[in-house]
Amino acid sequence: MKNLDTKQIRHTVDEAYEHLKGTKGGKNADYIPYLAGIDPSLFGISVCLPSGETIDAGDTQYRFGIESVSKVPTALLVMNQYDSKTVMEKIGADATGLPFNSIMAILLEKDHPTNPLVNAGAITACSMVKPVGDKQRKWQAIVDFQTDLCGSPLTLIDELYRSESDTNFNNRSIAWLLKNYSRIYDDPEMSLDLYTKQCSMGVTARQLAIAATTIACGGRNPVTGKQVFRSELTPKIVSLIAAVGFYEHTGDWLYTSGIPAKSGVGGGIMGIVPGIMGISAFAPPLDASGNSVKAQEAVKYIARKLGVNIFAPKPETRPEPVLA
Ligand code: GLU
Repeated sequence: MKNLDTKQIRHTVDEAYEHLKGTKGGKNADYIPYLAGIDPSLFGISVCLPSGETIDAGDTQYRFGIESVSKVPTALLVMNQYDSKTVMEKIGADATGLPFNSIMAILLEKDHPTNPLVNAGAITACSMVKPVGDKQRKWQAIVDFQTDLCGSPLTLIDELYRSESDTNFNNRSIAWLLKNYSRIYDDPEMSLDLYTKQCSMGVTARQLAIAATTIACGGRNPVTGKQVFRSELTPKIVSLIAAVGFYEHTGDWLYTSGIPAKSGVGGGIMGIVPGIMGISAFAPPLDASGNSVKAQEAVKYIARKLGVNIFAPKPETRPEPVLA
């Protein structure tokens, strides 16, 4: 990978922001009523380096719903509380190739929920958080881990939590189907509620960039210096993100971006370049599979301009990106 200097990154982030801020297309998620009402013109990009320096453009201090990106901290929490092998056995690490909330995926693969970064596996991960049976302390463990990963506290968006709780019928079916297959390890309703609540936390693009760099740097938060999880878990979580970070379009995403990244229907994307940096972007309008249109383009723009790609053997000179 290239040796990147801060000036070059600053220039690239500003350029990506200017180039993409007028991009149209996509639509806010509307199956969760709160998300439908968020200003669709919000747009922010943040890059965090292993030194802890963050390079921002646009609305990087706006708190949006973390949604599915919250599956990453909870998966790591559970891997850290148990070990990666147990998570593999109880949940799995396969790609589903199906939408994030697929019930079909559970029916097709009854022996495990497939991956902690899709809804089924994430609800199972919530059921595994220790101490099993103690909802209050499980929730505290989830919140503390999110805080440690991001280097500062996230805040619950009450309205989003209410909105999701009132409409999460599909996820409720998933929780009970997992129970049917003995693939949930605490009370199903409690596990579902923890999952819904973790998705309703408000996070900023800058916090997500810092979290990405904590992962990129083997679990050491670049801002606080705290070792948040065991370093051997970085390749494990990055492989899970690479497998399903963009749900049924993960292959397309990896092929075109070269960056393992996790998206959420709140419009956030968190990309990880191990050992090098974290990149995050946020813009509410989504494509048909629930991934932010503008945030995707922003991460790709920066990756291509800086020549970072986890599959590339050496620094490359890339052509100018072709943008929609
Ligand atoms: N809370 C959302 C759900 O379970 C998260 C989905 C996502 O961000 O992909 O439907």
